[in-house]
Amino acid sequence: MHTEILIVGAGAAGLMAARTLAQAGKKVLVLEARTRLGGRIHTFRENGFSGLAEAGAEFLHGDVAQTQQLLHATGTPTYPTGGITYEVTQGVVHESAEFLPEMPLLLEKLHALPHDLPLAEFLTQAFPAEEHRTLRNTVTRFAEGYDAADARRASSFALRDEWSGGGAEDSPRPEGGYGAVVAQLHREVEAAGGQVRLNSVVEKIIWHPHHVTLHCTDGRQYHATRALLTMPLGVLQAEAGSPGYFHLEPELPEHRAAATALGFGSVIKLLLEFNNPFWATASPQVQRPMPNLGFLFSDAAIPTWWTQQPNPRPLLTGWLAGPAAAERRASTNEALLTEALESLAYLLGSTVEYVRSQLQAHCIFNWGADPFARGAYTYATMGAEAARHVLAAPVADTLFFAGEAVYHGPHMGTVEAALVSGQAVAQHLLALPLPPVE
Ligand SMILES: Cc1cc2nc3c(=O)[nH]c(=O)nc-3n(C[C@H](O)[C@H](O)[C@H](O)COP(=O)(O)OP(=O)(O)OC[C@H]3O[C@@H](n4cnc5c(N)ncnc54)[C@H](O)[C@@H]3O)c2cc1C
Repeated sequence: MHTEILIVGAGAAGLMAARTLAQAGKKVLVLEARTRLGGRIHTFRENGFSGLAEAGAEFLHGDVAQTQQLLHATGTPTYPTGGITYEVTQGVVHESAEFLPEMPLLLEKLHALPHDLPLAEFLTQAFPAEEHRTLRNTVTRFAEGYDAADARRASSFALRDEWSGGGAEDSPRPEGGYGAVVAQLHREVEAAGGQVRLNSVVEKIIWHPHHVTLHCTDGRQYHATRALLTMPLGVLQAEAGSPGYFHLEPELPEHRAAATALGFGSVIKLLLEFNNPFWATASPQVQRPMPNLGFLFSDAAIPTWWTQQPNPRPLLTGWLAGPAAAERRASTNEALLTEALESLAYLLGSTVEYVRSQLQAHCIFNWGADPFARGAYTYATMGAEAARHVLAAPVADTLFFAGEAVYHGPHMGTVEAALVSGQAVAQHLLALPLPPVE
């Protein structure tokens, strides 16, 4: 089958690019490995859940114009998160006042840093004293938990810029989930004559200038003048023989090296729906209740939890990110569930048996183990800017790249990043002269 532009991946970037190109009259075909659209956006309802839940993206971080525009087009409002933020350390619960009282001092030291350093190195240099142990731990935990970053590789300059901008405040959710964005883009792609084919795992890309052949694992082959690759960074980083790896002929060693130079953090998201919000009230089985729980940060094995507040649905989401999630790549879901129940029992002053007895349904998403993601999202390492530049560079006017990993701007690692990147590369493609006739 021959088409003008083949797009690999029907996530936010691939669908956004497909929509823009199809609406401009280009013949596009999107090949998607999974049995569903959306990639790292996965709004689902199954396994006894009482409503929709988010396996991947859930919040809107900051001023995200493209995302807002798509939500607006579907009539999807957003609502702010609610509830109280708690912290638990060594079994002691307290309401969290301020994330890090030393933030002004931290930023002052970061701004005084003459050249970039990995975060872990910066922290030991700038805060070596015992009195700053808590600061070092909190900052490391934040970079690992929020950015899914490995502090030994994460760029201090990138985190300085992120934290100077105000960080994680104001993160509403779309009512009914991010799936609305995917459905809207898909509708628009199809309305403009574009096509999306699911169950199409691209395993080999053979190219020469102005000609690309994509080989899928089902034996099908697709030909085009140009191809846009939107596979996640984890897939681009995969080594030959590992799950998710795709073969390129001729190989692009500079792109592969640039992919490896960037950081791609792991996340395990554990969705546990209970019969009732038993954590809210003190009882013989719950010695450390947390009324009106919104978010919870702790020293438990699964350290971060949140509810759907202000929605009263008794759904707890557990979150493990960064190196600790990567270490559990090969863990079974049963082992992860046990860790989650043990964490909740510790946090609430309860027992695993009691917490388990309240459980109605659960789903665990180990994104590092997913062959079509191999992680959750990108974080900036030392020299990330240069690496991103190389990774985003088109090859011979034939191969193009989009996705959250190649996005440059303030919304790194988000749906917005993917949308903006997909839109930008599509506009770039539209501005190119037609390739010469062979
Ligand atoms: C757990 C988690 C929580 C997150 N939370 C948030 C959040 O709250 N807010 C936010 O804004 N962002 C969040 N993100 C990030 C956001 O989801 C991503 O940045 C964004 O969805 C990435 O879109 P993309 O199109 O670049 O990549 P993807 O969505 O990954 O799309 C790439 C597509 O390529 C497909 N693919 C891979 N290999 C092949 C192959 N060989 N052949 C064919 N197809 C292939 C994949 O299946 C996938 O569908 C989160 C991500 C995760 C994992």
